[in-house]
Amino acid sequence: MQTIKIKDLSFKPFIAEDELQGLIKNVAQKINNDYNGKTPLFIGILNGSFMFMGDLMKSIDLECLVSFVKLASYEGTETTGKVNKLIGLNESLEGQDVIIVEDIVDTGNTLEKLHQIIQEKKPNSVKIATLLFKPDPYKKNFKIDYIAKEIPNAFVVGYGLDYDGFGRNLPSIYVLNQ
Ligand code: 5GP
Repeated sequence: MQTIKIKDLSFKPFIAEDELQGLIKNVAQKINNDYNGKTPLFIGILNGSFMFMGDLMKSIDLECLVSFVKLASYEGTETTGKVNKLIGLNESLEGQDVIIVEDIVDTGNTLEKLHQIIQEKKPNSVKIATLLFKPDPYKKNFKIDYIAKEIPNAFVVGYGLDYDGFGRNLPSIYVLNQ
C-alpha cells in the first residue's frame, strides 16, 4: 500500500484489508453471541456503511433482516452537525431488535438523530455497531455497543468512506496526510 491522491488531497495507508477483516469478524462474533436465539434487524446507514455491512453479514450466523437507510449529514472534511431526513425505512420496527450499522462515529450527531427516529418506532431494543469510532470529537452520552476500532481524530477514507464522493471503493482505510 502506498500514498494515494483523491482530488486535491493526499492520503496514506492506515488500516490494512487483513486487519479490517479480522476486526469485523470479532464484532460479528460478539453479535452472534449476544443475539443467540433472536432475529435482529440490521439497519445500515448509507452510503458509508455498505462495505462494512457486506463483510459483517458474511460472518453473522443468526436468522436476521438487513435494511439500509440514508441520512445526509456530512460534506467535505468537516462534520457539519446538520442532519437531514431519514429516507428508506419502510419496515415496521415495532418489537424488533434493531442493530444500527455505521461506518464511523465522529461527533455522534448523525447517530443521535437516527436513534431518536428509530426509538419513536417502538423497537424492542436498539444497539449500535460502528466500524470506526473517534473518541475525541464524540459529544454524546449514549453507548456505542460494538466498535471494530477506535481511531484518532483524523480524516479517513476508503472501505465505504469518501472524500467528496470518491474513495469508497478502496478495500482498506487511508488517513489524510497533514
Ligand atoms: P457524526 O455525525 O458522528 O459527526 O459523523 C458521522 C458521519 O460523518 C459518518 O457517517 C461519515 O459519513 C462522516 N464522517 C465522520 N468522520 C469522517 C471521516 O474521518 N471520514 C469520512 N470520509 N467521513 C467521516
